[in-house]
Parts: sequence; structure tokens; C-alpha cells
Amino acid sequence: MPHILLVEDEPAIADILVYALGTECFVVTHALTGEEALAAAERETFDFAILDIGLPDMTGLDVCRRLREKSSIPVLFLTARDGEVDRILGLELGGDDYVTKPFSPREIVARVRAILRRSQPQISVSQPVDVTSSVLHHDAASMRIHCHGEWLDLTAHEYKLLLVLLGKPGRVFTRDQLLDYAWNDPGAVTDRTVDAHVKSIRAKMRLVREGAEELIQTRRGLGYLLSL
Ligand code: CA
Repeated sequence: MPHILLVEDEPAIADILVYALGTECFVVTHALTGEEALAAAERETFDFAILDIGLPDMTGLDVCRRLREKSSIPVLFLTARDGEVDRILGLELGGDDYVTKPFSPREIVARVRAILRRSQPQISVSQPVDVTSSVLHHDAASMRIHCHGEWLDLTAHEYKLLLVLLGKPGRVFTRDQLLDYAWNDPGAVTDRTVDAHVKSIRAKMRLVREGAEELIQTRRGLGYLLSL
């Protein structure tokens, strides 16, 4: 579960965000001031920071600068005034983002998810490598995958999806990650799309060997993994 450092001096706003993020399975540590936030960052490691710009003791930008001395933590800024947006944009934002108050908690959750997704280490499917196991074999030159001695007749997305799983057997990939890695425009498809493609790949694997053990396994509530 991603651990978020929330720095916001208005308790009413902080309460709403702590609740909204908590229901989405994020663990949140809330700090009211910049100093409190930096002290928390000394004690613990965070995966993400949500920083209000207008804090009583320093600005959210200062907090960001100090956090970045130690880690490349992704940041979402909360800002109340247009003038602050200019200052945020003056930063080298990189993978980060900002939202202007008032905002909906759902918007914050969606932004946090999107930023975390972008900041995950990318798996390259553009430079596929040959992967061979006793069951599956990827031939990079012909961009085909062999299963139990036969070529699978996969669509482009099925091929990319299976290739991602094949790149790290045993690792669970969330639907979001699979969408990011195997689709060029993940915004156009939904989690259901991943499920439908996995179902289709499984059916094609069964065609080459009926009754064989399911290679793509489901981790309920988490995602999929390839078990070789
Ligand atoms: Ca404030």
C-alpha cells in the first residue's frame, strides 16, 4: 500500500483527503506544518507527497525542495491562488502535478494514482528480448510467442500483454500497469479490457494444450501474474 505524506494546514481539507485516500487503500500521514512534515520524512519513507503551498511556517515548494534532497518522491501540489500556479510551473515539474482549490477528493485520488503510475519504473516492450522457458518462448524477431511447442495466434494487444507478464514471471502486475505497458492510449480502455484480453489469451493457450495448468494466474483484487 502506497504511503502518502499529506501536508495541509487546514484540518477540514486534510480530514476529507485522509478519508478519501484511506478508502482507496492509501496509508496517509498528515502533517500540519512544513517542519512537522520534514520530521515525519526523517522517520519514515513515503511513496508520495501531497503538499499544500500555503503553510504557516514555509511554503509547500520549500518542503518539496527539502524532500527532494533525499529522494525523488513524486509530488502533488495543492494551491489556493493563481499566482502560486506560476511558481509551481516555474519548477522542473517532471512527473509531478498540481490542483487548484477547491477540488474534489475524487480528483485528488485520480491524480495521485496517475502520477504513481507514471513514476513506476517502465518496462520496455518496444525492445523485446527473447525469453525462453520450458513452456513459453518469445521470438523477438518475428514478434510471436510459442506455447507448448506451437505458435499462439495472438492479436497485437494480447501479444504485448503476454510479453509484459513474460518479462517478469512471478511478478503481479496490476490492471493499471498492464494497461500502461500494453496499450499506447490507456485512457481509451478500461480495467475490463485487460480482463477480456487475459481471458482470450487463456483460451488460445488452452487451444494448444487442453487441460494444461493455467499459466496466467489471477490474484484477486490485485492483478495478474505469469506462473512458469
Ligand atoms: Ca494552507
